[in-house]
Amino acid sequence: MSLAISAAPAAQAADSVSTKPNLIGLSKAELKQAMVELGEKPFRATQLWHWMYHRGETDFDRMTTLHKDFRARLADNYEIRRPRTSVDLKSVDGTRKWLLKMDDGNEIETVHIPEEDRGTLCVSSQIGCTLTCSFCHTGTMRLVRNLTSAEIVGQVMLARDGIGEWPSPSEGRMISNIVMMGMGEPLYNFEEVKKALHICMDAEGIALSRRRITLSTSGIVPGIKRAGEEIGTMLAISLHAVTDELRNVLVPINKKYPLKELMDACRTYPGATNARRITFEYTMLKGINDSPAEARQLVRMLQGIPAKVNLIPFNPWPGAPYECSTDEAIAKFADIVNAAGYASPVRTPRGRDIFAACGQLKSASERPRKSRLDGGLAPAPQVGVLPQQPTVA
Ligand code: SAH
Ligand code: SF4
Repeated sequence: MSLAISAAPAAQAADSVSTKPNLIGLSKAELKQAMVELGEKPFRATQLWHWMYHRGETDFDRMTTLHKDFRARLADNYEIRRPRTSVDLKSVDGTRKWLLKMDDGNEIETVHIPEEDRGTLCVSSQIGCTLTCSFCHTGTMRLVRNLTSAEIVGQVMLARDGIGEWPSPSEGRMISNIVMMGMGEPLYNFEEVKKALHICMDAEGIALSRRRITLSTSGIVPGIKRAGEEIGTMLAISLHAVTDELRNVLVPINKKYPLKELMDACRTYPGATNARRITFEYTMLKGINDSPAEARQLVRMLQGIPAKVNLIPFNPWPGAPYECSTDEAIAKFADIVNAAGYASPVRTPRGRDIFAACGQLKSASERPRKSRLDGGLAPAPQVGVLPQQPTVA
């Protein structure tokens, strides 16, 4: 594994955190209300929205279409604040990972994955995760708390600052897609995720189409239908196993929402069509879930669902109790799924050298989950130490 990493020092290092309310993360209706409370007409919210989400402006004084007195009142009462960058790392393959500090000192990670025809931002929804999927590094963390919509949208804003993508371009974007595949289970933070994604989709601001946003869930069945109706983005399901027996171990929430219920929820997902397929994520674990028989069973399970399958080579982390399947096993599995008419690309691991790949995210400062130390599936993770953690310049 190469370690030729360029690490940029933290962009902002202010220790003191302002207590003024942040305008980022308010819905349009809430922003209008805030303007009315400042004695302004509601349409001012539209102007402000344009400055914040189309231009990326953070300084009220530079918002020249707003009258001076109004700008002063805004500055007296509010702020436009991003999460603070603790560490900004770049992988040899161009993947970039930000370790971000929230106002309360907790940390999360956001990852940018540039590709030839697109750029994907992998966004976190929670600090830690309540779920304990046995192959996932984030699953070794406790849930600290849900992120607010400001903190979720803030990840997008900060990444755009870092990449230099303001004002919002209409094409050729470096951040053309968002995947809710960072830390946390987005459907366990439904309201804030919904609010944040509606801000990202708003045509007068960040303006990402709902087809370019994918929400990934471990299978919270009641949330899936709601997500289809109330958010309307693309859906990805972290499947990883084709029997309840194995899925109960890999994705323990399966005990609450078993495979039959999960597949039924996918079958009736509002808006799923052949043009808007549901993605089934399947992490390839050597000798655990990667046999041809399991590939054939997967194909049977997908019948009647507009689906594609994303095969993810397992990304290792310290103390992980699994290994990645062999290339041959992955190729054979992909062939079977493909031959049945489902696209089944193998996801190239990106940013492994900076621990930015799927399932490797975990904030460096967290404490391990007690249940894991007391005899969970995985051995005790090392706290705060990632092997080969690059030194920050
Ligand atoms: N909590 C949500 C979203 C975040 S996880 C969910 O589980 O869907 C993003 C994807 O990476 C999920 O499919 C997850 O199962 C997968 N993943 C987790 N750990 C991994 C690892 N070590 N290697 C490869 N993929 C992993
Ligand atoms: Fe949580 Fe998703 Fe990791 Fe499972 S795979 S522990 S749901 S982040």
